[in-house]
Formats: sequence, structure tokens, C-alpha cells
Amino acid sequence: MSTKPLYLYDSYLWEFEAKILQVRENQVILDQTAFHPLTGSVASDLGYLMKGNMKYEVAEVEINKETKEIAHTLEAAAADLNQGDVLKGMLNWERRYRLMRLHTAAHLIAAIMYSDYNALITGGQVDPAHAKLDFNLPKTDREIFEAAVEKTNEEASKGVSLKIYFLAREEALKMLGIVKLAEKMPPQEKELRIVEIAGIDIQADGGPHVKNTNEIDEICLLKIENKGKNQRRIYFTVK
Ligand SMILES: [Zn+2]
Repeated sequence: MSTKPLYLYDSYLWEFEAKILQVRENQVILDQTAFHPLTGSVASDLGYLMKGNMKYEVAEVEINKETKEIAHTLEAAAADLNQGDVLKGMLNWERRYRLMRLHTAAHLIAAIMYSDYNALITGGQVDPAHAKLDFNLPKTDREIFEAAVEKTNEEASKGVSLKIYFLAREEALKMLGIVKLAEKMPPQEKELRIVEIAGIDIQADGGPHVKNTNEIDEICLLKIENKGKNQRRIYFTVK
């Protein structure tokens, strides 16, 4: 009983209908969903599930990596919700759109840090308020990060479009610039979802992105932290 991940096919889908596969206490498993679950690097979507006039607030969304079931944890009990019910789902779009903009900005910054400073990204997290990225860089040089963010803003303002498509895993791994991910390989899937920012970046990636880099608007560097040997962390946000 897996959940069809509608968010992989359309990042701009914020309203959808779905059938309940199962109710477990205050968790609802749907046959399909536009709610992006919490992953290692992106915060989950929030919003509402509705059955007629009843509105249920979604507090957390998680995916079971083995079964591919996506569970929507509700703020309150799933009273009156039953297997087979058809619900309407609505994302908190303001939150999701910030995640899309910040996530796409993270790709650009990582690509520029790699091409200009040979710095590999070793981790990251995108939350609605801000994002953080870790780089393998020998010294904390504020000027490097300031210059990278400035260049990222210049590139983003050119209005580069993003392409999202699926490729057989073998084919994808042959063409990807996967070196940017210092430790993480894409998960074991037959097909990989490819996110391509024309001429700038290409990644195997399941996260939500904007269609064009001009939607990012302006990226602001918040702070830089020294996280130990060769590990530099930057925090940034978008307006
Ligand atoms: Zn991404």
C-alpha cells in the first residue's frame, strides 16, 4: 500500500483529492498526496486535510522508506476518518513556496561553491525560515561566502529554468555531477528524479523546487559557523 507522491511530478500542486488507505490513531495514510514528507534535508509540508466541513490540521508528514507509505500526522485525533474516505488536502502554500525557493537557492550556492572554490557540500537542511549548508572548506573565509552568495544572486536573476525528469538509475549515474555530494549517493531506486538547472547544476533529488531561478528573489547570507576540521556552515534565507 504505497502512497503516490504527487509532489515529485508537480511542485506547484497545493490542493488535491485522495482516498484514505488506513487510519492509525492520529495518522492518516493516503493513496496519493501533494504533502512533501520530512527528509534528511527538507522540512515537511504542513496544511490541512478536509472531509466535508471537517478540517484536520496536519502537524507532520513522514515517509516510510521501505513501504513508500506517506503518513500525515494530525494535530488532533482522526475522529470520523475511515478507510476509503475521500479527502481534500490543502498545503500551507506560503511555507511550501519558501521551501521551494530556499531549496533551489541551495542548489545554486552549492554549484557555485564547487565550481569557484572546489568546496564539496557535506550536508544541509532547508526550513521555511532559513537554510543551512555545510561545506568542506579548509578556512572560514567570510569573503568567499559573501562572494558566492553575490554570484548566486546574479545567476538567479538571469531567470534560468529548471527541468525535472526521470531517468533509469544507471543512465543517470553516468551523467550526473554527483561529486558535489561528498558522502551521500542517491537512494537505491530503479529510476532517479533528476533536477537540472540549465548549465549550472544537475542532481538526483526528490525535493520541491521552483520552475525558474528568478522566483528565488534575493538570497541573504545570515551567518557562517566553524563546525570543526574543514567544516564550514552557512545560514541563508530568501526575502
Ligand atoms: Zn533539490
